[in-house]
Amino acid sequence: MCAKKQNEVGVTSAFQFHGIGKQSAKHLARLEIFSVQDLLFHLPSRYQDRTRIEFIRQLIPGNEAVIEGTIHQISTLQRGRTKLLCELKDETGIIHLRFFHVLTFQSKILQPGTRLRCYSEVRMGPKGLEMVHPEFQVIRKDKPLPLDQHLTPIYPTTEGLTQYAIRKLTTNALAWMRNENTLHELLPEPLLQLLSYPTLKDALQFVHRPPRQVLITNLLDNKTVAQQRLVFEELLAHRISLLQVKYKFQSQMGVSLAKHEKLSQQFRACLLFQLTHAQERVIQEIQHDLILSHPMLRLVQGDVGSGKTVVAAFAMLQSVENGHQAAMMAPTELLAEQHYRVFHRWFEPLGVKVVFLSGNVKARARSAVLEAIKSGDAQIILGTHALFQQEVSFTSLALVIIDEQHRFGVQQRALFRAKGMQLSYFPHQLIMTATPIPRTLAMSFYADLDCSTINELPPGRMPIMTSVLANSRREEVVTRIRKACQQGRQVYWVCPLIDESEAIVCQAATKTMEELQKLLPEFKIGMVHGRMHSNHKESAMRAFQAGEIHLLVATTVIEVGVDVPNASVMIIENAERLGLSQLHQLRGRVGRGLTASHCVLLYQYPLSELAKARLAVMRETTDGFKIAQYDLELRGPGEILGTKQTGDLSFRIADLIRDSDILPQVHKIADLIMRDHKEVIPPLIERWLGNKEEYGKV
Ligand code: ADP
Ligand code: MG
Repeated sequence: MCAKKQNEVGVTSAFQFHGIGKQSAKHLARLEIFSVQDLLFHLPSRYQDRTRIEFIRQLIPGNEAVIEGTIHQISTLQRGRTKLLCELKDETGIIHLRFFHVLTFQSKILQPGTRLRCYSEVRMGPKGLEMVHPEFQVIRKDKPLPLDQHLTPIYPTTEGLTQYAIRKLTTNALAWMRNENTLHELLPEPLLQLLSYPTLKDALQFVHRPPRQVLITNLLDNKTVAQQRLVFEELLAHRISLLQVKYKFQSQMGVSLAKHEKLSQQFRACLLFQLTHAQERVIQEIQHDLILSHPMLRLVQGDVGSGKTVVAAFAMLQSVENGHQAAMMAPTELLAEQHYRVFHRWFEPLGVKVVFLSGNVKARARSAVLEAIKSGDAQIILGTHALFQQEVSFTSLALVIIDEQHRFGVQQRALFRAKGMQLSYFPHQLIMTATPIPRTLAMSFYADLDCSTINELPPGRMPIMTSVLANSRREEVVTRIRKACQQGRQVYWVCPLIDESEAIVCQAATKTMEELQKLLPEFKIGMVHGRMHSNHKESAMRAFQAGEIHLLVATTVIEVGVDVPNASVMIIENAERLGLSQLHQLRGRVGRGLTASHCVLLYQYPLSELAKARLAVMRETTDGFKIAQYDLELRGPGEILGTKQTGDLSFRIADLIRDSDILPQVHKIADLIMRDHKEVIPPLIERWLGNKEEYGKV
């Protein structure tokens, strides 16, 4: 990205004012600053107050301060770390300046009688107040030193670029901004007034050079109206870019799927359970969307075990009833295979043809599946992302379902949509996620989607009891497992991936399996991990499902979607190193049947306070939303959306957690701009998201 931008504008021509040499440009490039605009949006991370001189007697240890005084005495020391100690005096008191190394020219200056202005943090030392290596300037009688007129900004910087240099650059940039007819105000005047926000130029001027009376704490908390205004504009740009994607998508041709209900009624009659109210409601919302002639783009959120699969089934049947195909994609082979088994069992009796495709379906079987998809013989297609490869061509795909969407980012969403371009219309799209996404995050990350929530679990679910144990108590755990297996229950033992390569983790799983087999010779133990051949994975899962295996040792491949209701005990090793949302997903593999379930989180002693607190959250609640909120506050959006996707949410100034209270306002204004001020949409998106190409695409 950097290289590309450089080519477009050229390093020097991007800076329309003097004073940026090649060297500085190089440093700036490292900070991703390629133009004056970038420089203006490179905001200080903190501030210092150098606008007033304080009396020594009034100094408070821990604060930073500017003082002026005369060197009264110096002592050069040979032993210890301190090389030079100066006693500085003003009319109110004495402070020591402590230096660990002194350059020759400095030792010439630092002599009794010299008047200095110093800036540093004040500390309490062995001899009273002191400053360690303060910044200092000599005060000459004939040349008074001016004081700063505004708070001093401290910028994020990089090696070779001093604060002084970057301050000078921003001073030039601000002058340029005021003089040139550029950096246009994009918020319409009435909106600025309505929100009582300053103009963009005033806001930037303020943030770079805050007036001396502004409280630094307010600046640090991002509470000033100038900062809020910048945050607001950035959030607005993000919101609008996603809304635009949504409207563009909605203006495409879709295919209207009428509600015949013949197959779905048959299906309903075969189901062994009654749908929950929440499931019924979401099914209706989807059915309603599918009837429309523009493509649906809907997100279904529902905690683990809330029963999303059956909701997807109803949507798929509506497509089949209208003579079209429906495809569902899962993020792992394991889950895709499970879906295949379930849908095969559900739909084959209705005379609906279900096929499976993944990277591991090879040779003749593969050509047969591809042919069935192409001829339209296959009505329901299940698989992994292999479904979206070039060689797959559908005859009449009307609905695409993506399960466990939290693994896919904005870019992939664009890709799925593009797949529909093969046909003369766009297929409807349903995206399902079990990761409960806190509202603020959902509103920002999924603004291009309509949302449905399954906020209810099927009745009769027993709560999961969670305990947290040190790894040293494995023996107890094994005893528990023995008891559970004797009672006919089944157990997962999870060896998670921790920073190491997949190969090492798979080895660890194999070792764990061998160990457990020795300790529990009377039971059958199976294993699944990412490196196994899919046939072996599949047969292990089938055997576990059928109850032929008592204990399944697994890596986190079972994290998403796997559904074996009889499994009611889960052991997770190294639990302290996993994200809470991930633990919640894993734990969601148990508690799906009618027996009470247990989850044991094993950790490596000793635990940090934070780790303790996090595991305690897992022990205390099974509410996915609470856990996600906690995770969001603790570890940021990356934990919940997957690190790859955080790029989609990287803000320059805004912070979704800190600034969540202005989001409702942002959304209101975004709608207003979409309706009444379309002309500012492109420049707004360009200003804030210029380099994120995927945003513009459908
Ligand atoms: P998830 O939302 O995590 O994908 P699944 O769709 O895998 O959940 O459903 C979890 C389990 O609950 C499955 O065994 C499914 O058959 C069962 N189930 C789904 N809906 C109901 C219901 N209304 N009543 C009882 N069991 C249900
Ligand atoms: Mg699922």
